[in-house]
Amino acid sequence: MTRITLRDGDWPDPPASPESAAFVEAAREGRFLLRRCTACGKAHWYPRALCPFCLGETAWEEASGEGTIYSVTVLAREEPPRTVAYVTLAEGPTMLTSVVECDAATLAIGQPVRLVFARSRNGTPVPCFRPAGPGPAA
Ligand SMILES: [Zn+2]
Repeated sequence: MTRITLRDGDWPDPPASPESAAFVEAAREGRFLLRRCTACGKAHWYPRALCPFCLGETAWEEASGEGTIYSVTVLAREEPPRTVAYVTLAEGPTMLTSVVECDAATLAIGQPVRLVFARSRNGTPVPCFRPAGPGPAA
């Protein structure tokens, strides 16, 4: 069993930019924001002012925080052990992230996960995910 914990300060500080400021501000209040295109209607990750699909304008919206594991790799020899995962959000985009608060051996492609914010070294919220519903983390 490789226990993956959520430990603040294990994450490097995300780069600060004008495009990410509103995201960080909302995340400090526990809200997870995505940008969605006002022209084609697709949501995307990471937040961009122009849609990566059609270059239309985009607007913030609050996301559900629900997703499923698209792929996951366990870095069991890291100290502490951690995961690198692609999670597909309920809103559509797939994002590079980590799955935490779990037994790494139980993680599976397609598994439902839910957003949880970790803190980087300078306290900036970093979006991570934990297994949703009943399971080892419940
Ligand atoms: Zn678009």
